[in-house]
Amino acid sequence: MSSENQDFNKTKAFLIDMTKCTGCRGCQVACKQWNQLGAEKTEFFTGEGYQNPPLMSEYTFTRIKFRDYEKNGQNEFAFYKEMCMHCNEPACASVCPVGAFKKTKEGPVTYDAERCIGCRFCMVACPFGVPKYEWSKALPLVRKCTGCYSRVKEGLKPACATTCVSAITYGNREDMIKEANKRIAARPEKYLKKLYGSEEAGGTSVIYLTALPFDELGFKPVTKRPLPSYTWQALRLVPGIFLTVGGSLSLLSWFNHRKERIAKEEEQRKSGATPKEES
Ligand code: SF4
Ligand code: SF4
Ligand code: SF4
Repeated sequence: MSSENQDFNKTKAFLIDMTKCTGCRGCQVACKQWNQLGAEKTEFFTGEGYQNPPLMSEYTFTRIKFRDYEKNGQNEFAFYKEMCMHCNEPACASVCPVGAFKKTKEGPVTYDAERCIGCRFCMVACPFGVPKYEWSKALPLVRKCTGCYSRVKEGLKPACATTCVSAITYGNREDMIKEANKRIAARPEKYLKKLYGSEEAGGTSVIYLTALPFDELGFKPVTKRPLPSYTWQALRLVPGIFLTVGGSLSLLSWFNHRKERIAKEEEQRKSGATPKEES
């Protein structure tokens, strides 16, 4: 759930200026390295653009989409760095019955695998299609960009922002929006006169500047109203369902984790090690 009365302007945010992106994919590599994400079977995709891997997945928390276009008779390139938007009021957190998602006071929306029961409500609720499921695993969980929270809470920038030398700036959300508007005012011929993320889904911690209209780059058209308000409206129509489903799933989670703990202890006992006490 998001913290009540949170001043989102003071949270950290990304300003991603897609006109400065060179398509080097350093951010993709840094993300994989920091999050220890494995390789996956992939292919070059030539549908709405040209990219590899074709989609975000449990092994790919961010990816660069690429397209070319013609301007004044010249060939131009445009990129789009896709990732979790770290919404101010995250729909994923609002539907998760066991509170696995959390909007932190610093800005990133975190995910706690220990709590997750794999119900996939978050995947349905997220308007940006971000949470992915570990389909290939026996005990699958949901994976997504964590905003590098372990780095951010120690005062560091996210791995992708640290690696990028041109397109990504990271700082207070209000400063990022001011900086974005300053760039538009300074070069009106270069930029689209709109930001993506300042209001979408009630505002997000990822703000984009582009040269092309957002839909041409593959950005999702999203309402400006915070998504949890729709979630709660829908749930009000089904009295008691949320508590019932939430209660059952919490119980299921407790059983799952208990089962895992027992299996772990059993394994340790067999190997002769003393089982570690769970807190
Ligand atoms: S590291 Fe920066 S310049 Fe390179 S692809 Fe990522 S966003 Fe673009
Ligand atoms: S983009 Fe989706 S997964 Fe990320 S915080 Fe927003 S609702 Fe949650
Ligand atoms: S913030 Fe961290 S987890 Fe998210 S895309 Fe950047 S490097 Fe990956």
